Amino acid sequence: MSGRLIVVSNRIPTEDVPSGGLVVALHEALSESGGLWIGAHPEVVETARDGLEDLAGNGYARKAFRLTEEERRSYYLGYANSVLWPLCHRRSDLIEFERAYAEGYLAVNRRVARAVAALAGPDDLIWIHDYHFLPLAAMLRARGVTARIGLFLHIPFPVLADLDALPEREDFPGWIAAFDVVGLQTEADVARCRELFRAEAELLPDGRVRHGGRDFAVRAFPIGIDTEAFAKAAAVGGGEWLVNLGKREDLLIGVDRLDYSKGLPNRFRAMGAFLDGQQSGDRRASLLQIAPPSREEVGAYQDIRDELERLAGCINGRHAELDWTPIRYIHRGLPREQLAVLYRVARVGLVTPLADGMNLVAKEYVAAQDPEDPGVLVLSRMAGAAEAMTEALLVNPYDIEEMALAIDAALAMPLAERRRRHRALMEVVRDTDVARWRRRCIEALARAERPLPVG
Ligand code: ADP
Repeated sequence: MSGRLIVVSNRIPTEDVPSGGLVVALHEALSESGGLWIGAHPEVVETARDGLEDLAGNGYARKAFRLTEEERRSYYLGYANSVLWPLCHRRSDLIEFERAYAEGYLAVNRRVARAVAALAGPDDLIWIHDYHFLPLAAMLRARGVTARIGLFLHIPFPVLADLDALPEREDFPGWIAAFDVVGLQTEADVARCRELFRAEAELLPDGRVRHGGRDFAVRAFPIGIDTEAFAKAAAVGGGEWLVNLGKREDLLIGVDRLDYSKGLPNRFRAMGAFLDGQQSGDRRASLLQIAPPSREEVGAYQDIRDELERLAGCINGRHAELDWTPIRYIHRGLPREQLAVLYRVARVGLVTPLADGMNLVAKEYVAAQDPEDPGVLVLSRMAGAAEAMTEALLVNPYDIEEMALAIDAALAMPLAERRRRHRALMEVVRDTDVARWRRRCIEALARAERPLPVG
């Protein structure tokens, strides 16, 4: 690669030692190429500022842009998380509109575009992450940037019909077409993206799309985790804190940010339905649900919290006994090492989102298992992960009865079948390891044909 790698993402790690699969993968990519990482500073400022601030970096540069409180509300909580997030997760009913949201979103993107355009050379690779920056490539092109620009969208590509709920619907195809490589999680996402352009663009025989005088590629790069690191953390084993969890054969685990897309109420209902079908004297399975709060300033996130607390109370009220609570619901995050050990202890992993770009918890659960005595993954068909992880027990997250049956089947699954399924799933997890993923993405971008200037 002759130029630098420039990564743009909403969040930029501010700690010295990076943690988390994606952050580590990007950190490694940047360290190799001596690149530059641009993201939003976690602290807001009083008045909007142009330009970027240098953050301490080791091996590569880190630069941050600042948001005002108003911009955090309009760009981040508003347009990104109250318009685009529900839109892409098929919950247009939860979209909240305010004119200021789009204005803030576009203003922040314009400011980042100005800063990136001033820094980027024609040989650099600009790799933009996620739905916070959909118009950024178009704005960079308008400023004459000819460097290769890639997008990786971590969330589902929106369904064509849902896009009508976006006030910026007219501009959306132009935003996407300004990238050279549009990286998506799954083939289903690629199909949805192509569907958008079917009517208004030319689909080239080599798979690329020609729109507005430019050709660009749309490809699936399923993201994964740092598989070996996770497996190792899980194998270390737990301390005394594990003692109170009960027998592992009876333990189910769920780990999700508290988000309406994660299907938590239906998961609790399925657990309730499963328990309803148990006879007295049957095994006493329990669900440990870890769901740290997220985006609590957005109304829809407060509603889901209330609903879950009510449901857990109801189900526990119906089934609990003096020495047994069927649903334990922990409303906070846990250190990764502890999570890894919990995954390994639990006989069943419940990953049942209503919509999800990939879902890394599914991969973490599999990587954490003891291959000799692995647990069973129950996985929603609506998670991007289900496209390749077909040896999980796949369920429809809207079908409570089916999920209850899957819980039953998972708890009863014989060892030989658990091993066979785990082997197959582990292959998928290894194949999509986050280090491989980032190499695939960057290679595709480096090999993209040089874009022609717009116009
Ligand atoms: P999303 O990006 O929508 O939150 P993913 O499943 O793709 O969903 O990624 C979630 C990540 O956050 C995983 O790496 C998971 O381990 C982590 N995570 C989720 N819940 C917790 C928790 N309670 N404590 C610590 N980490 C968590």
